[in-house]
Parts: sequence; C-alpha cells; structure tokens
Amino acid sequence: VPAVLPAARYGITPEHISPGARLVCETLQRHGHQAYVVGGAVRDLLLSRTPKDFDVATDAHPEQVRALFRRAHIIGRRFKIVHVYHGKETVEVTTFRGLVDPERAPVDAHGRLLDDNVFGTHAEDAQRRDFTINALYYDPVAGVLHDFHHGVGDIEARTLRVIGDPEQRYREDPVRMLRAVRLAAKLDLLIDPAARAPIRRLAPLLENVPPARLFDEIVKILTSGYALACLERLREEGLHGGLLPVLDLVFAHPSGERFVRLALEDSDRRIREGKSASPAFSFAALLWPRVLDEWRRRQAQGEPVFPALEAAMDTVLETQAESLAITRKLAGDIRELWMMQPRFERRAGKAPYRLVEQPRYRAGWDFLSLRAKAGEVPEELPRWWQRFAHGDEAERAALLREAR
Ligand code: ATP
Ligand code: MG
Repeated sequence: VPAVLPAARYGITPEHISPGARLVCETLQRHGHQAYVVGGAVRDLLLSRTPKDFDVATDAHPEQVRALFRRAHIIGRRFKIVHVYHGKETVEVTTFRGLVDPERAPVDAHGRLLDDNVFGTHAEDAQRRDFTINALYYDPVAGVLHDFHHGVGDIEARTLRVIGDPEQRYREDPVRMLRAVRLAAKLDLLIDPAARAPIRRLAPLLENVPPARLFDEIVKILTSGYALACLERLREEGLHGGLLPVLDLVFAHPSGERFVRLALEDSDRRIREGKSASPAFSFAALLWPRVLDEWRRRQAQGEPVFPALEAAMDTVLETQAESLAITRKLAGDIRELWMMQPRFERRAGKAPYRLVEQPRYRAGWDFLSLRAKAGEVPEELPRWWQRFAHGDEAERAALLREAR
C-alpha cells in the first residue's frame, strides 16, 4: 500500500506538469483508468528541477490508450508503449508493468533478465522500477503523490536507494549500476551504502549488456550537463571499464586528461546554459587522446599525415565498437571533427578558404581551441583562424603572408 501524500505540500501543482501530460492523465481518468505522471519528472520536481520530459503510467493497455487520442502511435516491438502527441510535445504512456517470476523468467548465465515484458498492477509497476525516488506517481487530478517505497523521504535525505535487494536488481539489469552513478552525480545524491557496496564487484556484468544499450546510456551521460562528474564517479566506482575502456587511458595521460576535462567542462557548461551540445563533440574529445597517440606513432614510422590519421581513427573507433555501438551517423560526425584538425595546420594557398566554408567548421574550430588550451597546439593557431574566418579579402591575404 502506498503512502498517499498531498502533492501541493511538496510544491507540486498541475501547473508544474506539461499541458500534454495533464491532458493525457485527465482523459485516461475520465474513461475509468488510472493515470499518473511518473519517474524522472516527479523526482525532478521534488528536487526543484525542471523535468526534461513527462512520462505517464496507466492501467490501460496500449490499444486502449491509442483509441482515446487523435494523434497517438504504438511503438516498440518487445514492450509496447504509446506516444501521444500534443502540439509539439510527445507524452510517453506506459502500461503498468508486472514482476516476473524469478524461477521461470528467462535469464542469461549471469542472471540478467532477457524478457520482463508483462503487464501488472500499480504496486507491481512501482516495485520493478530501479530506485525509490523514481517510483513516485503524481495524480494531477486528485492532487496527490503515491509513494510506495519511501521515495519522498529518500529525496529529503538526498539518498539514492535501490528498490529491493541491490545485488539482485543489478544482476537482473546491470545498466542500473550506471544509472545509480549517473543520477547520483547529476542530482548530487548520496548512494545508499547497501546500493553502493556491490557495484565494484558486479561491474564486470556490464560486459554482457548489449552494446546498443550501453551506447544509449553513455549518450545520456554525455548530454546530462554533468558528464565530467558522472565519468569521474564511474571511474571511482570501477564502472568505466565495461562502458568506456578508453577512460583508463584518458586519465592515465596527464595531457589527455587535461584535454578531456576541458572539453567536458565546456560542453557541460553549454548544456546547463540551455545551449545545444552534440554528443559527437564529447565523444570525439573522449577518444581524441587515443587517436592522437596512434596518429603520432604512425607518423613516426613514416606514414603521411592524412593516411596516418585515417588509420588511427579506424583503429580507435573499431576498438570502441566492440563494447559500445556508436551509430554510423555519430561515427561520421566524429570523423569529420578529427579530420579537420590537420587541415588547421595548412595555412597556405586555397586550403584555408575551403576549410572555413565547411558546414562543421565552427565545431572543428572549437575542438582546435580546446587542443590549444590543453597545450597540444600553439594558442596562436586558433587565434589566427578566428581572424581569418572573420577577415575581409585584404586581411586574409595578409594573414596568409604572415603564416608563411
Ligand atoms: P532522466 O532524467 O535521465 O530521463 P529518468 O529516471 O526519467 O531519468 P528514464 O530512462 O527516462 O530515466 O526512465 C524513466 C523511469 O523508468 C525511471 O524513472 C524509472 O522509474 C524507470 N526505469 C528506467 N530504467 C530502468 C531500469 N533499468 N530498471 C528499472 N526501472 C527503470
Ligand atoms: Mg526520463
């Protein structure tokens, strides 16, 4: 039985949730269903943060949900969820999920659940969520919070606590360990000792997680606005090995570490200021120290600049691909950023004119500036390009003479 708490006492009123989520809850309830805003949005509101998006949980089945809205799509093959569109907003509506019978559920050799897609009751839905603070349900019609696992108390105590036995929950789904560290870093919470203790020992379980899921998780980390803090804590907890084997190498090199820190601080700041920051840039930065090593090694063996860089990029991206499924599109963007770097060293003839016309020139220049800040190239280089990019014809000609 959940504690039912007056939401307004915790500062949550219907105005705090999006019009779409409100409408979805009201409509479902009017048709006799249960419907609540759930998960990250409720947690963020209780922490006085602005939610990214609003998810709704309901006892209505996907077909029933879809039938109630003009613009709605059932998505997902394994577990069906409904996207309801309201203006520009998309509300994700999920039917309560049930618990699986641990005796009969399909698991892999390490206890990871391979199929947990069954419908369930409200209480079961709460129990299968990962952390107590993520199992809070807000009913905007009744103005109450349903708290099954003392999540409100844990938020007040700023504690991240696993629902159920942490080791078992991590075995069922090792990504929960990454989520624990990411949420603790991002929300500045303490991981409950019982939830923290098994992480180091169970970290190798990440090796059995499909690379595509790890990729989703690292993108969440890199775009969270707290990437540097997250990655540092992942490393402290011994969790980075399965996710980003390169992190060890990054932090092992003083110059690589300096560069990566500067890059992540920069993108974290931009994201927190509400500016766009692409995961490609962060990925490119994280992997750059390795690329640079390999590139220099190949040049030392006499390979020409550009082919050596191509080969270095291939090596590094291929090694990553074994554990992390970087999408083709993202890999393309990353390569583009890297390939621009040696072009910044060619300050003669027509080449500079062509480079500044590149669509991704600005991102390439940002990357170059970070390399300069990290002491990898002279500070003068990005300054020169800044002047060249903004100069008129006479200034450009003068700059080219100056660079000779
Ligand atoms: P974010 O702010 O990063 O979106 P979130 O908690 O909303 O954080 P989502 O991935 O959007 O994260 O998940 C929504 C909700 O689904 C969570 O709040 C949690 O209740 C539940 N959930 C997500 N992943 C898991 C998991 N691996 N195991 C159990 N429950 C999960
Ligand atoms: Mg969310």
